[in-house]
Amino acid sequence: MRIDLDANATTPVLPEVLEAMQPFWRESYGNPSSAHQSGRRTRGAVEQARIAVASLLHCSPKEIVFTSGGTESDNLALSGVLQPWLDRRASEDKARHEPAHLITTQIEHDAVLSTAQSLERRGIEVTYLKPDSRGVVSPEDVEAALRPHTKLVSVMLANNETGAVQPVGKIARIAKAHGALVHTDAVQGAGKLPLDLSGEFKNVDLLSISGHKMYAPQGTGALFVRQGIELAPILLGGPHERQRRAGTENVPGIVGLGRAAELALAWLEGQNHHLLASPSKLAAEIPGSQSPAELAARRSHFEKRLLALIPEATINAAGAPRVSNTINLRIDDVDGEALIIALDLQGIAASFGSACSSGAAEPSHVLVAMGLTPKQAHSSFRLSLSRLTTDDEIARALEIIPAAVAHFRSVA
Ligand code: PLP
Repeated sequence: MRIDLDANATTPVLPEVLEAMQPFWRESYGNPSSAHQSGRRTRGAVEQARIAVASLLHCSPKEIVFTSGGTESDNLALSGVLQPWLDRRASEDKARHEPAHLITTQIEHDAVLSTAQSLERRGIEVTYLKPDSRGVVSPEDVEAALRPHTKLVSVMLANNETGAVQPVGKIARIAKAHGALVHTDAVQGAGKLPLDLSGEFKNVDLLSISGHKMYAPQGTGALFVRQGIELAPILLGGPHERQRRAGTENVPGIVGLGRAAELALAWLEGQNHHLLASPSKLAAEIPGSQSPAELAARRSHFEKRLLALIPEATINAAGAPRVSNTINLRIDDVDGEALIIALDLQGIAASFGSACSSGAAEPSHVLVAMGLTPKQAHSSFRLSLSRLTTDDEIARALEIIPAAVAHFRSVA
């Protein structure tokens, strides 16, 4: 059997999601901008999906912009807020123009980091905050970094490599009091943590999600944009998405994202997501975790057994609050990348948290920012469970992974 322990990279499309999408390829394929019946039908489906995503986030459907995924949402959030400032600067006397400042962190996904670096090259001041050794950014550090002209603070909700959850609610309160806008990349938080934009996150102005991290298809996503925020589109060419994202909508993908959002909400509330679609099935017959608590218990068992079976293994970000599915394991005398390849040959999909540039694997920027040496970062790898991961799969992984590590150690 193949065991997928790489859910933070992508998740499978749930059968209920696929079922909801299917009519929108061949039966109801109208362009949602068309005035005829077929177009009106798909427009209705897009707006239903918008309501479902807004319900997951506790915001107004008007505040949801559908995008092609987390990367586009992050680009749109940062560039959309700061581009108008760059445009004004281009048309005014530079000497008199007030500078603009962005605060972000060293542990962001490249979708945020690369956008921040691009804005920096074009004249935006950028601060990249360092996390503590647990991989958590402190609200006090955000407060200390604020400048009179800080326009935007962008701090991710849950880190993709370690699962460490950032104190975004607190950071947003501080930034808002200062008059800065707040963005959070919630790609790894959506569907795993409750997201309340009218409660805990009421000071967050922009929030990114991605469909393929929450059992919808790849190439789907959304950006929450709080009402009243000025946002320059990065895709031009039409009035779609209230002038914020031009282009004919990916209707099947949006419908899938909407259905996945409904299922995520039910799951977060502890309802069996499968039962929503298949009421005849008994919960006991269905594998996987029926709630975040069940997933957290499965992860915790897996982690404890790994530590017991692999001498001198440690968990990166162990002391941080973490999403319920992620383990970042460090085994100092074993190369993480070689181990991932060996595990793949034995049917386990896991991930090495590094970007491969010009053939050489760079150590994870996240782990290095937390204070690990490049060698320690190279000795780390990620196991991420999905809602569908079963006890049998964990039991099998607990046979394979320690044996693979023992083999590496015996030949070293
Ligand atoms: N942000 C985070 C934290 C991610 O983990 C990812 C994907 O791995 C992205 C953004 C990019 O999302 P997408 O793959 O939908 O472009």
